[in-house]
Amino acid sequence: MPEASTLVLRGGTLVLPDRLLDDAAVLCRNGRIVATGSFPLPDDAEIIDAGGGFIAPGFVDQHVHGALGADFMDGTPQAVELAIRGHTHHGTTSILPTTTTGTRQQIVAMLDACENVRRDWHPGKHARVAGVHFYGPYFASDKVGAHPHGYERDPDPDEYLPALERGIIRVATCAAELPGAEAFYREASRRGCLCTCGHSNASWTEMQRAYNAGLRHVDHFWCAMSTTTSIRERLGVPMQASMAEFVVATPGMSTEVIADGQHLGPDLLEYTYGMLGPDRLILITDSNRAVDMPEGEYMLGPHDTGEPFISDGTVGRCLAGGLASTVCGMDHMVRTMVRDTAAGLVQAIRMASLTPARLIGIQSEVGSLEPGKLADIQVLDRQLYTQRVFIEGVEFRGC
Ligand SMILES: [Zn+2]
Repeated sequence: MPEASTLVLRGGTLVLPDRLLDDAAVLCRNGRIVATGSFPLPDDAEIIDAGGGFIAPGFVDQHVHGALGADFMDGTPQAVELAIRGHTHHGTTSILPTTTTGTRQQIVAMLDACENVRRDWHPGKHARVAGVHFYGPYFASDKVGAHPHGYERDPDPDEYLPALERGIIRVATCAAELPGAEAFYREASRRGCLCTCGHSNASWTEMQRAYNAGLRHVDHFWCAMSTTTSIRERLGVPMQASMAEFVVATPGMSTEVIADGQHLGPDLLEYTYGMLGPDRLILITDSNRAVDMPEGEYMLGPHDTGEPFISDGTVGRCLAGGLASTVCGMDHMVRTMVRDTAAGLVQAIRMASLTPARLIGIQSEVGSLEPGKLADIQVLDRQLYTQRVFIEGVEFRGC
């Protein structure tokens, strides 16, 4: 255990859940925030000068596949740690490594590796594993997108019940129209998971049934999801509403956007933010292993059986056309929202910290600069690039 310590971050603008506070400070003791604003400096404090930047909560990323050459589906503790360190550099302090489609064995190996990393973790090492996002393989075969093809399947209790029993899965995805989807949502929500529908061509009716079974979220809004046109192709006329209309019209539903500036234009980002607001919309990175790597060809998913894509340095591109997830960290997503929408900095940060923390049930511990919470804090410069990261009051020193 590190010794009891007192830490003060000051000389910057605090990003609070509802406002900015200029020229203010945060006081932390023993890894927790004890005061924000202005207070007498304790004699024993280590002082961190924010250099006129922003002092903000660490990000919470619940949909992320890799970084620095590693994909969580590589299935080793080394790969999991490398990818997490890549995201810690960009301000993420709570992360949910996310599965892709893959074999049963590959998914078991990924869960084993994440459990190992969580067991050996200490503050300052890298972002904490706040859980796993069980994302692939329960995708609709017509919406597999950039994921490894041929590994998507219907939900099978023999596979998902042992996985859910581990207790590490906090977010659980399934395409709502698949046979067995409702049983999957019921089992996952009974264990406290956020249940989400993604890589799906579901109709409103199927979404409503799923909602009754525990569904509350949709993965990467506008991407790999149904539209009224795709529903007409699948189910004929009269036309029916799709996942998009269901989310917008249902107050209990939340969703997420990939705000890398490549997947969604400013109009779609603005529209989604305007319709849903900062408490039903979150930012994710959905990033692949090419984050902070040279341009070139990589695999989405397992290094041996993954789906090849090209990173051009701004986004992943499938060899057959279409996008293959992002190559950006979360600070980039915040910059895009601030640049492209009316959200503003306070709400953009909230959508990358407090709102996702609430959706997965960890908001009493993380997600905002409030006394009593863990001292997961970052310093961003005025251009919103992450400069320094503290996890439970211990600075992340990098790779
Ligand atoms: Zn996806």
